[in-house]
Amino acid sequence: MRAWQVASPGPMGTRPLRAADLPVPEPGPDEVRLRVDACGVCRTDLHLAEGDLQPRRALTVPGHEVVGRVDAIGLGPAAERRGIRLGDRLGVAWLASTDGTCAYCTRGAENLCPASTYTGWDVDGGYAEYVRVRVDYAYRLPAGYSDAELAPLLCAGIVGYRALRRAELPPGGRLGIYGFGASAHLAAQVALAQGARVHVMTRAPAARALALELGAASVAGAYDPPPEPLDAAVLFAPVGELVPVALAALDRGGTLSVAGIHLTDIPRLVYAEHLFQERNLRSTTANTRADGEEFLAIAAEHRLAVTVTPYSLDAADQALADLAADRVNGAAVLLP
Ligand SMILES: [Zn+2]
Ligand SMILES: [Zn+2]
Repeated sequence: MRAWQVASPGPMGTRPLRAADLPVPEPGPDEVRLRVDACGVCRTDLHLAEGDLQPRRALTVPGHEVVGRVDAIGLGPAAERRGIRLGDRLGVAWLASTDGTCAYCTRGAENLCPASTYTGWDVDGGYAEYVRVRVDYAYRLPAGYSDAELAPLLCAGIVGYRALRRAELPPGGRLGIYGFGASAHLAAQVALAQGARVHVMTRAPAARALALELGAASVAGAYDPPPEPLDAAVLFAPVGELVPVALAALDRGGTLSVAGIHLTDIPRLVYAEHLFQERNLRSTTANTRADGEEFLAIAAEHRLAVTVTPYSLDAADQALADLAADRVNGAAVLLP
């Protein structure tokens, strides 16, 4: 099969990915194999290709927003238990496995499992014609979306949803969103569907226009104050300098949730101005499968608008280079 591997991590200009002809993988016990129909290109793939995120194993196939159809079922009871049959459309996301037994897993925080493995980092992902996945970590997908539209829901959507939940926005509350890329535009639609007033702070004019189109109450520059105090805010831009800005925009008791896996340094905080009166600052780490199920159920109920830029599988390195240069409109998606 055609696939891409992370061969020599480095800047995109040095061609860190290599096109390869690999054997079609055989599904192991309690795994299924999918024929890939779409794979989203996430910023984490770029961190892996460029070496910001150290490879966990040589020559891994990247890609963790995979939509495909079951074309082989491994031995074991898992597929039958979940009623999965040949031809079913399933999704593969970042979390590939956990131990299921540690203190974090047993208290419902499997996203913090120290033994967790990840798609496209520890195990081969979806920049390929076929991928295998553990049945218990695959998602059923909502109807009414194309394969390309579903792909970005699987990381940008799910992780953005967790970050939104971590912000503890009260019903009908006032939400600030800092940065407005693939993840933010999906989380904003969830908040709007649940009755929030959403204020978007971002520098890009195209992103501000999209925010208004989706129903934001106001748009402004990244460092501008929102027109009213915020009950909650989510920081999607990986910019630590915005942490005190967003904290200062919170009302008493408000919460700022940082969505990113990576953030530049946070400047000095002033207790009275940024944290006192019970303002909260929280991080977000990946997601649990329950987060994914919840988010996809919301996507089934409220048709989310997903902006996609398609690329052929053969152009995966171009898609990543475009992402690195901020030339992608919405989410880049590879179509084999
Ligand atoms: Zn991702
Ligand atoms: Zn665990």
